[in-house]
Amino acid sequence: MAKVISLALAICMMLVPLFAVAQVVGMTTIAEQTSILPSVAHLHLQHSFIGSSLILSFMCFAWARALRSFSMAILALYFSIKSLWVLADGGISIMALFTHNVDFMKIEHTLLAALSVIILMSFTANLFALKKHAYHYYVWLQRLALIFLLFVPISYFLTRIDIILLTQVLTSVGLLSLLYIARNLPEKQSRLSAIYSAMLIIQICFNLVAYGLHFADVTVKVINCIDMFAFWSMAVMVTYIMGRRYHSHLQDVKLAQKQVLASAEASELAQKELFAVQQEGQELLESRVQERTLELNIALQELEVANQELKDKSTIDELSGLYNRRYYDQKSLAEFRRSRRNLTPLSLIIVDIDHFKKVNDNYGHLMGDKCIIATAKIIKSLLRRSTDIGCRYGGEEFCLILPETDAKGALALAQEVCQTIREQRVFGNETQISLTVSCGVTTYHQEKNITPEAIFASADSALYKAKQAGRDQVQVSLLSEI
Ligand code: GH3
Ligand code: MG
Ligand code: MG
Repeated sequence: MAKVISLALAICMMLVPLFAVAQVVGMTTIAEQTSILPSVAHLHLQHSFIGSSLILSFMCFAWARALRSFSMAILALYFSIKSLWVLADGGISIMALFTHNVDFMKIEHTLLAALSVIILMSFTANLFALKKHAYHYYVWLQRLALIFLLFVPISYFLTRIDIILLTQVLTSVGLLSLLYIARNLPEKQSRLSAIYSAMLIIQICFNLVAYGLHFADVTVKVINCIDMFAFWSMAVMVTYIMGRRYHSHLQDVKLAQKQVLASAEASELAQKELFAVQQEGQELLESRVQERTLELNIALQELEVANQELKDKSTIDELSGLYNRRYYDQKSLAEFRRSRRNLTPLSLIIVDIDHFKKVNDNYGHLMGDKCIIATAKIIKSLLRRSTDIGCRYGGEEFCLILPETDAKGALALAQEVCQTIREQRVFGNETQISLTVSCGVTTYHQEKNITPEAIFASADSALYKAKQAGRDQVQVSLLSEI
């Protein structure tokens, strides 16, 4: 579309200088046939008119290209055609280049007049976006344009003076229609519409004056001069209108840019605020996580302590503080396996308080408990190796598991236990009693077919021997004896 318009404009602009050539080539003939002999002043005016039209058309064309404005392209076309018409009215005909037939020149005259009005209507339709905002006016203008074109062939049969009058009437009807539309537009209040209306009124006035002068005793040259002035006044006003329009367009663009900038700034600010809120939230979250982690760690430690306590409770005998029977069962099996695996000796001592029933009977159970506690304390103090395990097997019986301890070592320890307990005194409220213990010792030296139960039974049988032998002593049993 843009290419077609550019081409049309280029052709129109080329037509203008062609008229200058036509003026030189065909002047004599035209002057002879039409009795229009321009004066020197009129000739100069026409030359100026051609030059200014050329510049105006070129400027509009350049403007249309630069702004990619369809309105400006139409305007450029209008100026070209209108100037051709004014020149034809003044006796400079393009037809003179091709023919000397005056009848065809009459058609040219009407054709250019009709075209210029039609193009002006098209420009108005585009300027006020009639197709979009007032479609009925748009259709009206279309129909009017068709009617105007119908007059072109009719003009072939008319006289020159009738043609001039016809073109004046066509132009006036076109201008009045445009004026009516401009005053009845939805945006008629706008300044643009007012200026445009003023321009149309001035043109109508010029037309009426020219029309009237045809009936007065005035030469065609003078009327042509009026036409040229009308054209220039229109050119100035329309150019002013387009300038204003472009200015308001620039204002709109500036405003839009400002709004975009403002909204960009606002969005940047909002983003910053959002970021700050996020940062704050992040910090809060982190501190809460830290707090919670600390709480969890404390809870974990407490849980570990509780677990340890639970574990201790399940493995420690409350009265004596030594390991309990359950722990003994676990450990005796574990140490037995370890001893077998590492080929190391494993000894077991069973300690039983002598005549403990009598202690209970004579001094009471509380005193009996005290004796158990005192005995356990001595046993604990004598178990120097970290691997040694002291357990309260039940009642007043204690089992000492001695890993990597041979029979000799176990015997020595058992005797030490016997002696230490014998030498101690347990104090009651008003009494003090002495205790003795009997110990049964056995040692596992990787003998075959031996179980932890067999080791216990062997130590128990040694204990039995010690009891039988009078108590307060240590007896040793060999596993092979079982
Ligand atoms: P022996 O020299 O033959 O070992 O004589 P004994 O009296 O120690 O015999 P026995 O092993 O049969 O008696 C153990 C007594 O220990 C029986 C029970 O009343 C007492 N006893 C068991 N457990 C406890 C306890 O936890 N506290 C107290 N005070 N006495 C207990
Ligand atoms: Mg006993
Ligand atoms: Mg006993």
